[in-house]
This record gives sequence, structure tokens and C-alpha cells, in this order.
Amino acid sequence: MDQKIVDEVVDTLWSGWITTGPKTKKFEKMLTAYAGQSVTLCVSSGSAGLELMLHWFGIGPGDEVIVPAYTYAATANVVVHCGAKVVFVDSDEDFNISVEAIQKAITPRTKVIIPVDIAGWPCDYDAINALVRKPEFQRLFTPATKAQMTLNRILILSDAAHSIGGKYKNRMTGALTDITVYSFHAVKNLTTAEGGAVCMNLPPPFDHDLLYRELNAKSLHGQTKDALAKTQIGGWRYDIIEPGYKYNMTDIQASMGIVELVRYNKDMLVRRKHIFDRYTTAFSGYSWAQVPLYETLERKSSFHVYLLRIKRINEAQRDRIIQEIFKKEVAVNVHFVPLPMMTYYREAGYRIQDYPVAYDNYSHEISLPVYYDLTDEMVDTVIKAVVEAVETVRGDK
Ligand SMILES: *Cc1c(COP(=O)(O)O)cnc(C)c1O
Repeated sequence: MDQKIVDEVVDTLWSGWITTGPKTKKFEKMLTAYAGQSVTLCVSSGSAGLELMLHWFGIGPGDEVIVPAYTYAATANVVVHCGAKVVFVDSDEDFNISVEAIQKAITPRTKVIIPVDIAGWPCDYDAINALVRKPEFQRLFTPATKAQMTLNRILILSDAAHSIGGKYKNRMTGALTDITVYSFHAVKNLTTAEGGAVCMNLPPPFDHDLLYRELNAKSLHGQTKDALAKTQIGGWRYDIIEPGYKYNMTDIQASMGIVELVRYNKDMLVRRKHIFDRYTTAFSGYSWAQVPLYETLERKSSFHVYLLRIKRINEAQRDRIIQEIFKKEVAVNVHFVPLPMMTYYREAGYRIQDYPVAYDNYSHEISLPVYYDLTDEMVDTVIKAVVEAVETVRGDK
């Protein structure tokens, strides 16, 4: 937060229009220009965006949605809200969903796959996009709604809550697959306090202008006119074409996003990459450290969180290392406890033993802080705290 953001928010507050209006529309156009998708709809959160698109595709009881076991709860909870079945699959060593595991999990009931770009690292989208176009899987697909008939294959709904600005083969997340959803929650790289965006990139014959209008209405109770349109002369009469949701973004939120997106690449991402590099340079010198992948010739992270792994320890030792780090007044985290370990999903019958790589990644992982205002000196304090904590617990000075 800085004066520029404050000024833009104040401008909105005095503008006479505080909910969805010109600033939200401007932010949508900026997001489209930024990542190169066909059209963007801003919504009230990333979760709302994911759920809106599952409803749009007609997901309900009897359908299956493939979700990585290793993600935040939002990715799976939205599927439960639709009454569909969550089909968890295991991860790869890079923390992202395993394409091989997806392939094994596809059934005639599979309607959607939700890959997640964990920590900002894009999934293997060429492989995932090719998978759903394989004739054997297209034949299995049994469309039940108009949108499903038009697509006539499994939908890829990418959860890019972490990965705005990430790149795969020189294309940005947002333009890599059918639908991509960003989150602008306060902990994310680019924030509007709460907020999200749906980036659309569907193949023909989908018409993106039509889709935008349809989804815009769906995010506003299925109303044919938004509040702004209703203020125009003679514009009071409207219709409800379906029982939609209340998932719109406000202009107050969009004001923050507008300021941040302008400087996102040249300032915020640069700073985040610098922090990642500083961690990697330091930890590469320790044989117990496994540093994360965040930049290759083909892929580039958005540097969301730094997922350090400590080799040759178990979950209890990892927890003790975190305790030791906290004693040094450094706050670290774990991204994520795999969902099959969470009470709701465990009681629903999922077993962590079925996701060995997700468990392995989780049990060795410690997320280190990455944020714009973190100074080099603070990064060094984190590094020192981690090194000392690992040496204390592993006893290997
Ligand atoms: C934050 C997050 C979401 C949800 O975003 P909200 O804007 O908080 O609803 C979804 N998926 C993942 C992986 C997240 O980290």
C-alpha cells in the first residue's frame, strides 16, 4: 500500500460511484491486455470465480472434477458446493498436479480438471491441454448442458490464484488454457483486499462478447442490467433471466488493482524474484536444502511463495524446525497441508496414503516469506533462522 493506491481509492470514493462501474471495467481491460486472454470478468474473489465457472459449465451431482490433493481448500470446496464429486490426484515433485495421475483419474463422469499453479509455478499446460483433446477421452465425455455440448470435451479451469505474471513457453498464465481464475486476496501477489478475475480463452464457436455478458449477468443475480445501466434515462426496467449469484467486484477494489497492475512487472515481480534468488543462493550451499524450481527456459514463476524443502526429515522434525524458527521471531508457514488430511475430506473417505508425493512434498516443506517490503537484511535474518533451526533439529552442524 502506498500513496498512489490511497489516491486512486479516494478518487473512487468521491467519484459518485463505488460499486461495479468504470474502474472495474477499466481493470478488466487492463488484465486482458496484460496476459492476452480473450476477455476478463472481475469478481468478488478467486473462489467466487471458480464456482461461477463450474455453475456456468453446469457442474452438479453425478459429475466428477479432478483437483490436486495439494492445494488450498478453495479449489476443492467449490466443487463440493456444486454437489459434484471431488476426485483428488497426486502431485509431481515440483508441487504441481501430476499429468500422469490426471490421466488415470479420468472417467466418463469427468467434466472439469482444475490444475493449480502452486506458489506461482505454471503447470505443464501443453500436456494438460493435449490430454483433454485425446480422442479416447473425448469419446468418454458425455455432455449434459449447452456449454458442455459446445465444448464437447473436459473443461480446463486453471486455478491461478498464485500465478498472475507467471509464464509458460512465453505465454502468460491467463491465456494458457480454457479458463483461468486469479485471486486478489490480501495474501496474493497483486491484491484488491478481496477479489478475483476470470480470464476466458475458450475455443470457437464460443463467442467471448456473449460469454462476458452472460457471465456478468450470472455474477449479478442473473439481472439483465447492472446498477450503472439502470441509472440511465429510461433504464429502470430489468429482467432476471436466471437465479444468479452476487459475485461482482467493486470499483473500490478495482482501484487498488489498477495501480498495482501498472507497476506489477517492472517493480513488484522484480523485487519478488530478487528475494527468491537471495534464498536460493544461500540455501544452495547446504546439502540438506532442496530449493524450488522457479525459472527454466520454458517456465517462469510469479514468485508467490518460496517453498523450501528440508531433505531426510519426517513431518514431526519439520514441525520442530518451524518451532525453532518461530523462536527467532521469524514467521514461516506451510503451503499446503494436503486436503485429504483435513477433517472434512478425511471424514468424506479420502486417504492421504493415496497421494504419496503430495504427502512427501508437504512433510519436508517450509514456506519462507516473500513480500514487496521484505528487505535484504530481513531475508538474511530468515536464512540465518532457518539454517540454525535445521542444524538444531538435525544435529548436523
Ligand atoms: C487464495 C487461493 C484461492 C482462493 O482465492 P480467494 O480470492 O481467497 O477466494 C484459490 N486457490 C488457491 C490455490 C489459493 O491459494
